Amino acid sequence: MGKPTGFMEFQRELPPDRSPLERLDDWQEFHDHFPESKLQAQGARCMDCGIPFCHSGTLISGMASGCPINNLIPEWNDLVYRGLWKEALERLHKTNNFPEFTGRVCPAPCEGSCVLGINELPVTIKTIECAIIDNGFAQGWVEPDPPKKRTGKKVAVVGSGPSGLACAAQLNRAGHWVTVYERADRIGGLLMYGIPNMKLDKRVVQRRIDLMAEEGITFITNTAVGEELPAKKLLDDFDAVVLCCGATKPRDLSVPGRELKGIHFAMEFLHANTKSLLDSGQQNGSYISAENKHVVVIGGGDTGTDCVGTAMRHKCRSLVQLEILPQPPDTRQADNPWPEWPKIYRLDYGQEEAQARFGADPRIYVMSPQRFIGDGNGHVKEVHAVSVEWTRNESGAFIPKNIPGTEQVFPADLVLLAMGFLGPEEAILADLGVERDPRSNAKAEYGKFATNVAGIYAAGDCRRGQSLVVWAINEGRGAAREVDRHLMGKTGLP
Ligand SMILES: Cc1cc2nc3c(=O)[nH]c(=O)nc-3n(C[C@H](O)[C@H](O)[C@H](O)COP(=O)(O)OP(=O)(O)OC[C@H]3O[C@@H](n4cnc5c(N)ncnc54)[C@H](O)[C@@H]3O)c2cc1C
Ligand code: SF4
Repeated sequence: MGKPTGFMEFQRELPPDRSPLERLDDWQEFHDHFPESKLQAQGARCMDCGIPFCHSGTLISGMASGCPINNLIPEWNDLVYRGLWKEALERLHKTNNFPEFTGRVCPAPCEGSCVLGINELPVTIKTIECAIIDNGFAQGWVEPDPPKKRTGKKVAVVGSGPSGLACAAQLNRAGHWVTVYERADRIGGLLMYGIPNMKLDKRVVQRRIDLMAEEGITFITNTAVGEELPAKKLLDDFDAVVLCCGATKPRDLSVPGRELKGIHFAMEFLHANTKSLLDSGQQNGSYISAENKHVVVIGGGDTGTDCVGTAMRHKCRSLVQLEILPQPPDTRQADNPWPEWPKIYRLDYGQEEAQARFGADPRIYVMSPQRFIGDGNGHVKEVHAVSVEWTRNESGAFIPKNIPGTEQVFPADLVLLAMGFLGPEEAILADLGVERDPRSNAKAEYGKFATNVAGIYAAGDCRRGQSLVVWAINEGRGAAREVDRHLMGKTGLP
């Protein structure tokens, strides 16, 4: 609970980020770290609120409220306040296999539901989480912990993103032999090739993977199940299969000119950038460069932000980000009360960098691209877009309506489509005969994670649609528990 009067004595404080202009010259993480005394004071702000909404994650109005993996937040806040860092680490690892990932990239729905947040700024939960695990690694407290006994059962996990990794870690802990198959050349899913280095250093990802390998998990890269390896072979070779293959099918924009060169899906841009960075420090040139280009990013979510941050580091000439939704308000509205996730305006790291360099937040709201215009040589030159207003249709749903006479033209040498994802790719599910839900995700009930095919489970984005790292960890852990129950008749996994 921290210090009983801490919330009255200390103000919320976050470690400063590195200066936006300075960090554009490298790919290092943009967060700085707090000294221990500051972290203890922040931990002290956690009050004895009685019902800690922060640690009981749930969905309200479709958004996470509280921590989806039920991190024991008040307990570790108290331990940090009292300087008991090792004990805090033990508590943290009880619920979270990878706090070094969530401590860096989680949007922290826990903070949106912190009771102190009703009339004050919430406790800096995410910063404390990150500090606990970073300190744990620095002190040498995070060591390989292989299971004492093996069950002899074998499980295949397809996909090595956070859901696959969490699932593998838990199944291995229960004593099963786990093999993780990944089609990319590196393990980590979107932790490795989606979220860029400045938000999540790839050495942090690799450190955990190495630890898991030392604990006995086998990782096989460059192997697309359903292509290099027939999906059905997994059923012959393993006692259970868990599909954790993500929701990687991007939403396209079907407007005239889409076929022009210079228009790419965000993930083509982000994946190639990180791969080139890791392979050669970008010396091999195997990436889509934004250098000296007019860049238009279409889509205002996390993926769009990462495109902005990456293009800024390439030293693009100009940058706009088109978002079809209206600009959120600065404070919570009456229809978005605590403990819901606050739907408010935020200047994320990429937009902060663009603002520092070009003078303004690059996002232009309620804008809908209508067509791409070429330069006569098959390459994109302009994006034409109009403003929209959001109105209700006959069935009451909000829909965007173009406003005549509002067309704007944006110069564009590079267009990045970051408009979300449409579920998992079809091949592997079809190959295995796994049914899909109406949103085209693998059909498996939340909590059970079993598909219609005996012995095949599904978890993470391929089951729930594109979501968050913390939900992927939640689902990976849940699927592991159900697989363990299926294999052993009972389970001790949480
Ligand atoms: C650019 C971007 C930025 C994001 N930023 C954040 C953020 O800051 N915070 C946050 O919480 N969430 C963020 N997200 C969302 C988050 O990354 C995902 O919700 C999460 O990674 C889903 O985990 P997963 O394990 O289900 O799938 P993924 O991480 O997508 O991993 C799936 C893996 O399966 C592999 N695979 C697919 N098919 C096969 C096959 N047939 N054979 C073998 N391997 C296969 C893929 O190559 C991939 O590596 C972001 C997403 C994107 C795209
Ligand atoms: S995982 Fe996310 S929601 Fe949970 S405590 Fe950490 S920052 Fe908060």
